[in-house]
Amino acid sequence: MDERELAWLRRCVELAGEALEAGDEPFGSVLVDGSGTLRAEDRNRVAGGDATRHPEFELARWAAEHLSPAERAAATVYTSGEHCPMCSAAHAWVGLGRIVFVASSAQLSEWLAAWGRPPGPVAALPAGTVAPGVTVEGPVEELVPAVEELHRRFAERAGG
Ligand SMILES: [Zn+2]
Repeated sequence: MDERELAWLRRCVELAGEALEAGDEPFGSVLVDGSGTLRAEDRNRVAGGDATRHPEFELARWAAEHLSPAERAAATVYTSGEHCPMCSAAHAWVGLGRIVFVASSAQLSEWLAAWGRPPGPVAALPAGTVAPGVTVEGPVEELVPAVEELHRRFAERAGG
């Protein structure tokens, strides 16, 4: 993990923070093309009532619309939290390349359990299990505490 990749992951954490401030769940993601250029970024937007508004899903759709198959295959999606099965599937279906995440779905599940929060409605399968053809890297331990803190704040708020 070089400095450039860490910078993309820090941007993901920043987007996750923006999501939290806006009342959404703290997840953020960026799509970087094969030449290392940022092409798209988004954050979680589920507060409006559509629980599928995950950034990784939005980026997969954006890629399908704006990038050629070769460009998609060469792109990397960086994300604050590992793709859920829905997003892993979308990522694989549109033929995107590597995934790099800060915190794993397993870590998030452990945190939620420890904080007394209910698990999500979808199994926390690893992205690489759902999308076996995709190279998946993470967790990136040095940024995990920042992501855990955002989720802790969200859980506190959700717990009332
Ligand atoms: Zn997702």
